[in-house]
Amino acid sequence: MAKIKTIGVLTSGGDAPGMNAAIRAVTRAAISHEFNVKGIYRGYRGLVENEIVDFHAEDVSNIIHRGGTILRTARCKEFMTPEGRQKAYDNMRKHDIDALVVIGGDGTLTGAKQFASEFDIPIVGIPGTIDNDLYGTDHCPGFGSAAKYIATSTKEIIRDAMGFSYKKKNVNIIEVMGRNAGWLTGAAGLSRSEDCEGPDLIYLPEVAFDIAGFVQTIKELLEKKDVIVAVVSEGIKTPEGKYVCEYTAGSSTTDAFGHIQMTGTASYLAQLVQSELGCKTRAIELSTLQRAAAHMASRVDVDEAFSVGGATIKAADEGSSGVMVVIDRVSDDPYQSTTHVFDVHRIANDEKVVPRKWINKAGNYVTEEFLDYVRPLIQGHYTPMMVEGLPRHLNVNMKDYDWVTDTKKKK
Ligand code: ATP
Repeated sequence: MAKIKTIGVLTSGGDAPGMNAAIRAVTRAAISHEFNVKGIYRGYRGLVENEIVDFHAEDVSNIIHRGGTILRTARCKEFMTPEGRQKAYDNMRKHDIDALVVIGGDGTLTGAKQFASEFDIPIVGIPGTIDNDLYGTDHCPGFGSAAKYIATSTKEIIRDAMGFSYKKKNVNIIEVMGRNAGWLTGAAGLSRSEDCEGPDLIYLPEVAFDIAGFVQTIKELLEKKDVIVAVVSEGIKTPEGKYVCEYTAGSSTTDAFGHIQMTGTASYLAQLVQSELGCKTRAIELSTLQRAAAHMASRVDVDEAFSVGGATIKAADEGSSGVMVVIDRVSDDPYQSTTHVFDVHRIANDEKVVPRKWINKAGNYVTEEFLDYVRPLIQGHYTPMMVEGLPRHLNVNMKDYDWVTDTKKKK
């Protein structure tokens, strides 16, 4: 294989904490390997539409502790067609890019596999997704920070619900992301600690959800206590295979990729409980806050994203292609991890779900083993850079911005 001269880097799919750390590590490591670096905006869309810029060491200064991705991200239907990928390849050639680093989830890596096989391009992937649903890696960069946010928010919701004295009994239902895999939802269980009793119930999409059984369980719990907090995955389904969110009004909405929009599960259940049991209910959908809450980033997560980014360039320089750099857990206590290179063709097409043995028998809570798996990943903190009382973000046009001085470039 010819020696790489220019490497392109892109972030794709849903935003995930740690993407900036990975971009920085990729760029700096590539420069130290004497590669030129090109930043590709908005994932595969930027490749198809030729939004590609030179990247220098200073372009990735000051970004590790910031949320979002300076390259922005997107979902691109055109890249899923042979014509779209041909355009992407032509643009790569225009910029002399001879290898790609892609940072994203399952879809991003599937696209990379397809692209690499059609055009014989060295591609190395970084599994950056809060969903944590990729095979081959102990966990995905992005997941630890999202889990930390979910556990923290659950604690806050419980404290709020317990602290306020309502006249009526009170049921709170929190909806967490996860279409088919309940990693994020299960993380709510980490809130159970010395100072918090944790949620009463946790429902993952791995176990069929019995709507009538849920109402009955709430009814029985309300006989013993006044305040209940339940956490549900957005993707919980009935035994017949229907998403609970499909029962809500307007549920027929699908996105450009034909996926049912996952929203409204908590709101449907809250209304149902209110009408059946006559108690006060509240639905809380964490929605995009789960992936956007950079103020709650886990240091372990962000540091691992950085390590994976560096290892990606080493792998590319050694001639690896069609691989992703994954995380191995070396030990739990003290927590230690390392990276290795994993053939993307070995990734099964289906998502990695929470093992049934990590969910209790009744299907309404996660086990200690699940919590022991997640707990090390949320440790440590990255304090955001605060300006005028608010975290400083990077949502500005990069070409007009100087990251080193953190100011707009003078015209
Ligand atoms: P997340 O887990 O955060 O959703 P993801 O990488 O799984 O991230 P997707 O939207 O599934 O997000 O995929 C990102 C992009 O990858 C898609 O918009 C599309 O451009 C590309 N992609 C996905 N699947 C394929 C495929 N089969 N062939 C070519 N490209 C694909």
